[in-house]
Amino acid sequence: MVEKSFPLKIGLEIHGYLNTKEKLFCKCKAISEKDEKPNTRICPICTGQPGSKPMLPNKEAMKKLIQISLILGCRVNHDKRLVWQRKHYSWPDIPKGYQNTISGAYSTPCSEDGKFHGIKITETHLEEDPARWNPDTGKIDYNRSGLPLIEIVTEPDFRSADNVIEWLKNLVIALSYIKAIKKSAGIKVDVNVSTYGERVEIKNINSLDKIKRAIEYEIKRQLENYRNKIEQKRETLTYDESKGKTIKMREKEGAEDYRFIPEPDLPVVKIDEKEVSKLKQNLPETPDEKLNKLLTKYKIDKANAEILTKNLELVDFFEALAKQVDAKKYISWVTIELLRILNYNKKTLEEVNINPEHLAELIKAIDKKEITELKAKQIMNEFIPNSFSIKQKSDISKISDSSEIENFCKDAIKKNPKAAEDFKAGKQESLNFLIGEVMKLSSRRADYQTTKNCLLKFLK
Ligand SMILES: [Zn+2]
Repeated sequence: MVEKSFPLKIGLEIHGYLNTKEKLFCKCKAISEKDEKPNTRICPICTGQPGSKPMLPNKEAMKKLIQISLILGCRVNHDKRLVWQRKHYSWPDIPKGYQNTISGAYSTPCSEDGKFHGIKITETHLEEDPARWNPDTGKIDYNRSGLPLIEIVTEPDFRSADNVIEWLKNLVIALSYIKAIKKSAGIKVDVNVSTYGERVEIKNINSLDKIKRAIEYEIKRQLENYRNKIEQKRETLTYDESKGKTIKMREKEGAEDYRFIPEPDLPVVKIDEKEVSKLKQNLPETPDEKLNKLLTKYKIDKANAEILTKNLELVDFFEALAKQVDAKKYISWVTIELLRILNYNKKTLEEVNINPEHLAELIKAIDKKEITELKAKQIMNEFIPNSFSIKQKSDISKISDSSEIENFCKDAIKKNPKAAEDFKAGKQESLNFLIGEVMKLSSRRADYQTTKNCLLKFLK
């Protein structure tokens, strides 16, 4: 049977924790400690105790939301009255019975009508996070209750799971450039998928892999239902990773089910237009702008430029290095060597203290043929966790004196007679082995070409 083709439409609602020091309506810390205990960052406000009223909303949260809106090309609604709403629902994670949000059918969103990498942005919302409820034990942890969340709603412009994943990757990189979202917390995504019938919503997926699998499964499921003449109603699903399936949670509720009412304890928000233009002027370069600069100003090839732009710290490091050395010529010292030592030590550039000046010193020493590349790589291994000036190191200079190298070569041949014989019998790899032995004996300081020539002379 030939499948009738449907206009596949996918839209996203992306939730991320805004990078603030305090919670949205109280002074409790927003930043979690490693191994923190439950309910250690709480107060009467963020636990929703009777009689407690919210403080004025955290200004930093609104500032971050505006920055994100600008990156997404949205119009910031500075000329409109933004009203905090109570979104009611009964669930153990929200003891006051409602969530405060600037969203819902009767509300003007903080920003709207954007476009990012070809996908239209409908609007953005600001809201508070509920607590964490464990359905197995019934225990509730309020540490995350009241954290500021942004919700980014897209139009159903995506046409495939791959399209979604590629776009989300670009979004995450762009947001990391303005440091507006908490890196450690990641993002959570609700995905809307429609094929032949009403759209369904898959709730709360927290990794790119899962998002891809959930969308692909859901498309397949809907098309099978179509063939079986099952009507597709509007509904809410969850993705069960272990089964690899989407599972029905409930028939979709309409906006009226949340009984939105304006929050009487919070003032109407007016965004200052001057503040918006100031934030716009001071936005850092976007990943696309950085990429363009690497290609045109620094003349870096595309593959390396793309490696650099994926990580703001790395591209900043490169630009600092480029002020001191011919960074194009020595690009591999960033995109290969620096990443090698970071990966080996399972660290990110943020977690260590590597000064671009120290790498520049090393590169200059190679350039002037004062040290060998091998020695430089060995020194770089010691740059974690803290880099240092090579002026502090003695005995690192390159050995070019041929009589000194001859002695190392004689030693290497004497200690490895079999390798020497093998080479004479035609085994080329044995030469590399012997060069390696000379490097070890000279603590990686012997000049490569002189060593090779000298070994060839002795092995004739
Ligand atoms: Zn609190």
